Amino acid sequence: MDLWYTEKQTESFGITAKITKTYVNEQTEFQQLDMIETEEFGTMLVLDGMVMTTVKDEFVYHEMVAHPVLFTHPNPEHVLVVGGGDGGVIREVMKHPKVKKAVLVDIDGKVIEYSKKYLPTIAKELDNPRVEVLVNDGFMHIHDHKSSYDVIMVDSTEPVGPAANLFTRGFYQGIFEALKDDGIFVAQTDNPWFKAELIQSVNKDVREVFPIVRVYGANIPTYPSGLWTFTMGSKKYDPLEVDESAIPELDTKYYSPRLHKAAFMLPKFVEDLIK
Ligand code: SAM
Repeated sequence: MDLWYTEKQTESFGITAKITKTYVNEQTEFQQLDMIETEEFGTMLVLDGMVMTTVKDEFVYHEMVAHPVLFTHPNPEHVLVVGGGDGGVIREVMKHPKVKKAVLVDIDGKVIEYSKKYLPTIAKELDNPRVEVLVNDGFMHIHDHKSSYDVIMVDSTEPVGPAANLFTRGFYQGIFEALKDDGIFVAQTDNPWFKAELIQSVNKDVREVFPIVRVYGANIPTYPSGLWTFTMGSKKYDPLEVDESAIPELDTKYYSPRLHKAAFMLPKFVEDLIK
């Protein structure tokens, strides 16, 4: 008898993956945490029934959260990752020698613990001496750290459960205040097929707080609809004004200097969403 994991991406549509092994099924203090082995995408972390990351396609999301913003800021010495307990964004941040210190704040220590054990290629830089890992609510952390960061990356779950307040105008105001005078932030902002209203509301809120707002996309096969968006809010630097010829080739599989600006070219139906 085959075992399949199905994520209902809407009430009437989803994806399903054949499972070969189950490592963890645990209700943590904050969410249901499942770590499973899938035939197609390898080891998969699922939180509250939603795919978080898989060994086969994780590079897309983690590279596209980290590199556009870190190559837009000219000197990203102090960075913060809100969420990101699987360690994938931190692994990409460590490819930037200008980063002196990266702080990761995830509300759920169990995500960090199980990612280190079952997702070692993703979590491998969490013990880097340049990294400080904190278990706390990201919302609280940013309010306690004014004018502290050059770059903030919000790698949170969907706006439900513990991440519900990470998609609010108050949170973006808090991000603005936790950034230095020329700081930049980026947040994953879901998909335009099933979460168009979320993309619109985030864009409206971020525009009320930041002078420069840009949205870019990437293809993530295990995320709802496969078309994912990211929203960048910047106090001074514009990602579209970066000199791509000055961007070094990193050890990446999705992001490249050639893709830096191209990622901001959106399908018309997505452009219309954020007009
Ligand atoms: N790439 C995934 C996505 O786009 O949905 C996110 C992956 S990462 C595992 C999401 C993390 O956000 C989880 O580990 C969760 O514990 C964390 N998280 C949720 N709410 C949080 C909060 N308020 N503060 C800090 N971390 C939070």
